[in-house]
Amino acid sequence: MDEVRAVIGLSKCVKTGKLYGIRFEPQGNDWIMTWAFPLSEKAAAGEKYDRLTISGRFFTGEEYPGCPYCGNRYFFYCCGHLNCYDGHSKTSTCQWCNWSGELGGNVDRIDITSNI
Ligand SMILES: [Zn+2]
Ligand SMILES: [Zn+2]
Repeated sequence: MDEVRAVIGLSKCVKTGKLYGIRFEPQGNDWIMTWAFPLSEKAAAGEKYDRLTISGRFFTGEEYPGCPYCGNRYFFYCCGHLNCYDGHSKTSTCQWCNWSGELGGNVDRIDITSNI
C-alpha cells in the first residue's frame, strides 16, 4: 500500500472571495474532504506551496465542516483552483479568474496547490 497522506488544497469562498484550505485524505482511489480552515492571503503567500495533481473521485466527509465563511460543503474546480460550492447551483463565478457560467461535468482529477 502506498504511503497515505493528506494534502491541503487552497480554495476561495464564492460568497466572500476569501481564502481557505481544504484537507483531502486519500481513501483507496478516492479523496475525502475532511477539514477546512480559514487562511489569510498573506499567510498563504508567505508559505511555499507546490502544485500537485490528485486524481480519483472526491467526496465530502461526514465530519467536513464546510467552507469556513459560508458553510458550503462542496467545491467546483476552475483554472487550476478550487472554489466553494453549495452542491446545487447551476452557475457560479470563479473567485480566481472571474470566469462565470454554467457548472457541469464530473471532476476526476484536480491540480491543487499544496504545502504538504
Ligand atoms: Zn464559501
Ligand atoms: Zn477560474
